[in-house]
Amino acid sequence: MSNHYDVIVIGTGAGGGTLAYHLAPSGKRILLLERGDYVPREKGNWDPKIVNVDGHYNTKEGWLDKDGKDLHPHTNYNVGGNTKFYGAALFRLRQEDFGELKHHGGISPGWPIRYDDLEPYYTQAENLYHVHGNRGEDPTEPFASSPYPWPAVSHEPRIQQLSDDFARSGLKPFHVPVGVMLDEKDPQKSKCIRCNTCDGFPCLVYAKADAQVLCVDEAVKHPNVTLITNSLVKKIETDGSGRVAKGVVVERHGRTENFTGDVVVVSCGAINSAALLLRSANDKHPRGLGNSSDVVGRHYMGHTNSVMMAISKCPNPTIFQKTLGVNDFYFGSKDWQYPMGHISFVGKLDAVTLRAGAPAIAPNFTLELMAKHSLDFWLTSEDLPDPNNRVTVDRNGKIVLTYTPNNLEAHERLQAKLKDAMKHTHCAMHGHECHQGLFGRNLYVGQRIPLAGVAHQNGTIRFGHDPKTSVLDANCKAHDLDNLYVVDGSFFPSSAAVNPALTIIANALRVGDHLLDRMGVSAAEPVMASATNERTGHGGRS
Ligand SMILES: Cc1cc2nc3c(=O)[nH]c(=O)nc-3n(C[C@H](O)[C@H](O)[C@H](O)COP(=O)(O)OP(=O)(O)OC[C@H]3O[C@@H](n4cnc5c(N)ncnc54)[C@H](O)[C@@H]3O)c2cc1C
Ligand code: SF4
Repeated sequence: MSNHYDVIVIGTGAGGGTLAYHLAPSGKRILLLERGDYVPREKGNWDPKIVNVDGHYNTKEGWLDKDGKDLHPHTNYNVGGNTKFYGAALFRLRQEDFGELKHHGGISPGWPIRYDDLEPYYTQAENLYHVHGNRGEDPTEPFASSPYPWPAVSHEPRIQQLSDDFARSGLKPFHVPVGVMLDEKDPQKSKCIRCNTCDGFPCLVYAKADAQVLCVDEAVKHPNVTLITNSLVKKIETDGSGRVAKGVVVERHGRTENFTGDVVVVSCGAINSAALLLRSANDKHPRGLGNSSDVVGRHYMGHTNSVMMAISKCPNPTIFQKTLGVNDFYFGSKDWQYPMGHISFVGKLDAVTLRAGAPAIAPNFTLELMAKHSLDFWLTSEDLPDPNNRVTVDRNGKIVLTYTPNNLEAHERLQAKLKDAMKHTHCAMHGHECHQGLFGRNLYVGQRIPLAGVAHQNGTIRFGHDPKTSVLDANCKAHDLDNLYVVDGSFFPSSAAVNPALTIIANALRVGDHLLDRMGVSAAEPVMASATNERTGHGGRS
């Protein structure tokens, strides 16, 4: 069996999994390398203690912070990457996010492509990932060439009441676009059962639109696609000229293996992709592969996020809470001209999870009562690209993450806007007195860095037109190499303030079309009968 492939894709998450799916029908020999394994299907998938408190499915890998202290990142190494655990809120960036935007804390730089370049791929991505939403509700929504493939996931009564309250006070609440395979018209046949363990949990019934279920499992049905799990790519090697990525060195079950490819695509997540390029330094690339600009690893962004619990006297019996969003302050407000960000929800918090996150307690409430009575908001503001916020590797190859938050006033003002909006809510029983206050949930659990700190990781291998200030060109090919691409969240020059996954997915489809052109094939081309079937047992996995 030859170890040479037309395309090697490293990582199976939102970027890599989607790309493999897109390239699979081409008949080209594609190798998908994933350091993790399949998330096992077991009852623990839906157990808050096992998932949130024990961190059972998180990597046990240790990183370091800028002071050399241990960090235990809340990230996941498995087939499907972090999409196995994500909340599947699948947003397009706003049209304005592609241009330069002035923030209170500085400039959010423009992208080398425009919204219109990505629009057709956003539409494909929404179809592929079963996005449920209603066009026209979100006041900041960009132009879309077709409706969402599925109607929005409906609000449960408590969330509908909040939406009505917000609307009465002049806001424009909308239904969050979500990628779940829910058919509310036919609940008996619906794959998704609308449960309370979605955001942060793997879906036991495979009804979440994640990269494993929708993309990797479909890609490996093609005999020309090989997936090898438990394969940690340690290094990318080049030819003598340094212009061509020849292949990869893999550690698998304690052994070293080598694979070569005509095209190498990195998609390990923004932090690991930068680390891999840095670890791949050689004589021709002394600062790291593709790093003549010294930009690899820099401009790390992860959003400024917070979880705010609004406590009411009346209970919140909502099961699937992540249906409501507010973007009225995304670009600013009458009293503040700068962008503030996005308000939506996390999955319904429970007492077990709260105990681990230790929020400030509302007067006269226990954690159990708080969990029963809280509306659990998720606030996101844009953090700006700072070259000193960066990923490096120490002399043992360990990841070092250096990050100083910025643009914080935007987030503080967003929190104040939510506080104000909540004052206008009232219920039939207690009137305005029903609302008891807003409480921040501490995102630090044990020694972990904040969950959101790496959940939305991006920006470390930015794309741009100028090889002096960017690593990738507009097609996400390294300026310094002829055949090295990056398709995960690393390419973002700015982080915007909506969740990143749909943009990563859409971009992977866009880069996929470029690669099909480059190889002179089309996705519709039938799989060649001569393609070697290297499936090792079960459906192309090994
Ligand atoms: C709890 C949680 C909730 C989230 N909710 C949302 C949400 O609602 N909406 C949203 O848009 N985003 C959400 N996100 C973020 C979203 O999951 C990520 O933006 C997205 O998965 C990133 O895609 P990626 O391709 O960049 O990386 P990943 O999906 O992380 O994939 C990277 C893959 O590369 C593999 N890998 C890494 N290094 C190597 C190596 N050296 N060799 C081989 N393989 C390697 C990893 O194991 C992994 O499978 C959430 C994330 C988390 C953790
Ligand atoms: S809400 Fe639906 S998609 Fe999410 S975990 Fe439950 S069944 Fe799966």
